[in-house]
Amino acid sequence: MGHQRLRICPLICLPSSVSRGMDCGALRMDWNLLQRYLEQMGSPKLFDRWPSTAWTRGHRRVFDRRNFTLGPPAKLLPGLGLVVLSMVLAACGPDSQTQRIQDPRPNVLFISVDTIRADHLSAYGYGRETSPFLSGLARDGVQVQAAYAPSATTGPTHASVFTAQPPMAHGVRKNGQPLPENEKTLAERLSEIGFETGAVVSSYVLSDRFGYGQGFDSFDDDFSKSKTPVGSTLWEGETIEERFYGRADDTTDRALRWLDERSDEAAPFFLFVHYYDPHDPYVPPENFTPPFAPGRKESLKLNRTIYLYDWLIAYTDQQIGRLLEGLDLAGLAEDTLVIVTGDHGEGLMTHGHMFHGVHVYEEAVKVPLILRWPGHLPQGLKVEGPFPLVELAPALLELIGDSPNGPLASAGSASRLLGRGESADEEIPIFLYRRHYADPKEGDGPTAPRGEKFGVRLGGWKLIVGPAEGTLELYGLVDDPLEQINLASEEPERVARLSALIDAWRLEHERNVIEPAPVLQQDRERLKALGYVE
Ligand SMILES: [Zn+2]
Repeated sequence: MGHQRLRICPLICLPSSVSRGMDCGALRMDWNLLQRYLEQMGSPKLFDRWPSTAWTRGHRRVFDRRNFTLGPPAKLLPGLGLVVLSMVLAACGPDSQTQRIQDPRPNVLFISVDTIRADHLSAYGYGRETSPFLSGLARDGVQVQAAYAPSATTGPTHASVFTAQPPMAHGVRKNGQPLPENEKTLAERLSEIGFETGAVVSSYVLSDRFGYGQGFDSFDDDFSKSKTPVGSTLWEGETIEERFYGRADDTTDRALRWLDERSDEAAPFFLFVHYYDPHDPYVPPENFTPPFAPGRKESLKLNRTIYLYDWLIAYTDQQIGRLLEGLDLAGLAEDTLVIVTGDHGEGLMTHGHMFHGVHVYEEAVKVPLILRWPGHLPQGLKVEGPFPLVELAPALLELIGDSPNGPLASAGSASRLLGRGESADEEIPIFLYRRHYADPKEGDGPTAPRGEKFGVRLGGWKLIVGPAEGTLELYGLVDDPLEQINLASEEPERVARLSALIDAWRLEHERNVIEPAPVLQQDRERLKALGYVE
């Protein structure tokens, strides 16, 4: 906390090259005291200049809050000296901040949480208080009640969200397959139109070696200092000790560092942050205790596991809160479009599977989606949806005033995201993709997955077909939200209509029909250690 506050002082308007690494102790200040100090220094003109061109919108707001108080007197003078020096430099130096003021586009902070099942967040009505910070974010912005990940697997979903295409179009049909260079990603587009782009990820699955770094000026997939178990991997006859995932506190630290050190403060930024903690093996952190206790039923193994899962969601929520606080303290919150979502849910035995990947039932693909952009998006708006995450990047670009060509082009996505226009559930099908399984032994649980599965939701109905497995499932989500009663044999016409939609969707997008590429041996071992059985 202290660190966050003291960063504000040198950040006021020093060029980042000067302010970086500067530490002015426990300095906190009150605007009135600063004003008196400046008058004593005979520098009223410097003060008069504020808050005009030399100040960024964000920094000015920090001062508007007047939330500074003076620290120990011994630290006062050097600290205020820095402020004055900052003002002089800002008055004399190149006025990059002015350019930022004239740029109406917001910064974008895009947070994805791995394995976060929407109905396990208190923000979505869950009984345990797992997400107080996300509830607060939802109160300040827009919350989509039914957001759908395009798949229940990390790699394919992230690739789909970044490219606005389904997995069979971009070709990442399962983890470990690289996102092709020629696919245009959200980060590439934002970089093209002048955003400084950075990413902080927390799992080997999303590391740069699989192509997820496309379009990012800075891509931080180094979680080697995180307090997570060290993996032991056999690779070409050698044992390699390496971490496979990072903890949320480390991820937040790295993201805050990126915000502090970004090189171009005149440009808006796009920061992608990926948290991983709710993913199995459900090892809770030592430095966080959830605000709820295990119930008596927690003695049962499944309930104990769910308790640990909820614990990890609450921990991640707390760390998202810390990241948002850092954004606020840096004076950037007002100018930043924040998006929080997930890549997929978790089985938790709702359909006999503990983890994810094997199914596209609701628990596996319904994820949170919350957006905040003060003054630009409504406050406290709840949108029923459903909304597909594959449309999120086009919606985002449309919201910030960009109109690209190709798959990232928006065709009303922003309106749907905000619940305007036509009823998505009646008119717009939501398509789902179950990752490819070459070997039935790869899956967890009672069924033997083979090949791919395809799903569509339309008008409160959901059809799931598994051509290689020979399965056909139809559910009426209004009466049967847990998808327990397969109505496929009773509703042949509806099945035919929805099947035709899936066929047309596949025909349109299935341009990458090659058998999934083999995964490198060392990657195979690491994915195995992560629980992605391969
Ligand atoms: Zn995932």
